[in-house]
Amino acid sequence: MTIRVLAPELVSKIAAGEVIERPASVAKELIENSLDAGASQISVETQGGGVDLVRVADNGGGIPASEVELAFRRHATSKISSLEELGSIRSLGFRGEALPCIAAVAEVEVLTKAESDAVGSYLYLRQGELARRESRARPRGCTVTVRRLFRQVPARLKFLKSGNTENSHVATVVSQYAMAYPEVGFRLLLDGHVSLHTPGNGLLRDVMSQTYGLDVAQAMLDVENSEAAIRVSGLVSPPALARSNRRYLSFFINRRWARSPLLVRAAEEAYHGLLMEGRHPLVALNVSLPPEEIDVNVHPAKTEVRFSREQAVFSSVTEAVKGTLHRTPVATTKAVSFSASSYREQSTWTVTETEAAFVAPLPAPGLPALRVMGQLASTYIIGEGPEGLYLVDQHAAHERVLYEEIQAQWSRHKIEVQGLLQATTVEFSPREEQIWEANKEKLAQFGFAVEPFGGRSYLLRSVPATVAGTNIVEALRTLLEAIAGMETTPLEEKIMQSLACHAAIRAGQRLSNVEMAELIQQLERAKQPRTCPHGRPTMIHLSSRQLEKEFGRTG
Ligand code: ADP
Ligand code: MG
Repeated sequence: MTIRVLAPELVSKIAAGEVIERPASVAKELIENSLDAGASQISVETQGGGVDLVRVADNGGGIPASEVELAFRRHATSKISSLEELGSIRSLGFRGEALPCIAAVAEVEVLTKAESDAVGSYLYLRQGELARRESRARPRGCTVTVRRLFRQVPARLKFLKSGNTENSHVATVVSQYAMAYPEVGFRLLLDGHVSLHTPGNGLLRDVMSQTYGLDVAQAMLDVENSEAAIRVSGLVSPPALARSNRRYLSFFINRRWARSPLLVRAAEEAYHGLLMEGRHPLVALNVSLPPEEIDVNVHPAKTEVRFSREQAVFSSVTEAVKGTLHRTPVATTKAVSFSASSYREQSTWTVTETEAAFVAPLPAPGLPALRVMGQLASTYIIGEGPEGLYLVDQHAAHERVLYEEIQAQWSRHKIEVQGLLQATTVEFSPREEQIWEANKEKLAQFGFAVEPFGGRSYLLRSVPATVAGTNIVEALRTLLEAIAGMETTPLEEKIMQSLACHAAIRAGQRLSNVEMAELIQQLERAKQPRTCPHGRPTMIHLSSRQLEKEFGRTG
């Protein structure tokens, strides 16, 4: 093929592809512009999951009438003007790409007024071209409305998820920036439903109460290392409050929301030894350092940041969080953890202290009768069988047992439900609420009776019996996260796996011989005893022959 230069229209669509991936990217770019314009109130609205409409309105400085058209030209920016300035960026935007990129893949309306102008300007752009322009009244500020996103880019449209999922991404972006800028009031309306409304009073804790709920907000601990050169400030969870994924770790670098594996590791390092395996803290931290020491021009969507002194940043964050955690007595943090009534650390098994547990041999396909010899590292059950030694992963094994139990109930249309004597309140995050909305019928079939209780509060009246007696609020949260992930797994499958995983005994839990014997017995009865529901092995087998070989007993 001959080499040729691409047509400008194609170039702009390709560039747009890097900046605008989904409705949430539109929201992110527009919010960043509003923040750069010094707004103290920002409202974000979506319709049709953001595909039909994303609108961001602010009360910032606005764009002067003489410059509005220019703002939609590629590489047109008011934020930097020289190469030196690229090395010390203080604004969120600087590439002059967002507005033209959005206009290349959607229809855009802008209504804005700067202080210096008597009247506002209204522009309507279609296919990146100006289609209409007139003067209209508006108080100082800027409203950008983006309609029919990707209508001309079917390849992109195809990759978008359901309206609820896209809305949940928008909710994440808004929640993050609300946490980065507590002095700014954010209002989020998702398909007609107020999903977030922050007071803009400068208190991160108040924003967090809106995003993660009052319980969490009250339990969070302050981090502040005011004397350090690399300043770290924000809120982190006490060790008693943790989640099963890393979605609740938010980092801002000079108040820019950024994904940073380095900062995640640095913060988690401070919790070393304080959290159980697979548990993660909730964190919202801002790291501020001289702009010369970071490079934000790494990614077109500006979601990555490079540090010139990685090690120094890492230890500043670890030390700051450690300082907070070690100042706080463990006992008091426990008291403010999740609804104490449903918290349990032990499994639901009845423990009777008898020694020596022989497991009656059962005709179980795939798994021979095992004699329990003991427990290793509070995590594995050591068993002896006719064919050698077996090491059973207690969590994976219990997960398999519970999973098959729920599966059997589901196929009999008889999910066992546990009503709660006292309804428990759950405060959903905007994202959780979206996931809940999209899947509530199915979750009700599995035994979750949840009623709206004003705002994002809900009343939990019953749960599947499998998770009764555990921390049920956490069971529900973990479940919602599981539903949102693993796109290819069928919904029912995801629910059953998540319930089983949540309710299963954890690694690190000491078990009596009777408990171990009971678990092994249940596992023997399972249809597929050798793998957990996710397909990982439940056990390792060292055959008698292998043992003989290892010890050089075979000739
Ligand atoms: P960048 O943010 O990188 O400068 P954009 O394409 O996002 O590029 O915006 C171009 C310019 O339009 C900005 O530099 C700014 O001057 C102006 N602008 C965009 N949005 C707003 C807004 N909400 N309020 C005031 N000015 C804005
Ligand atoms: Mg911008």
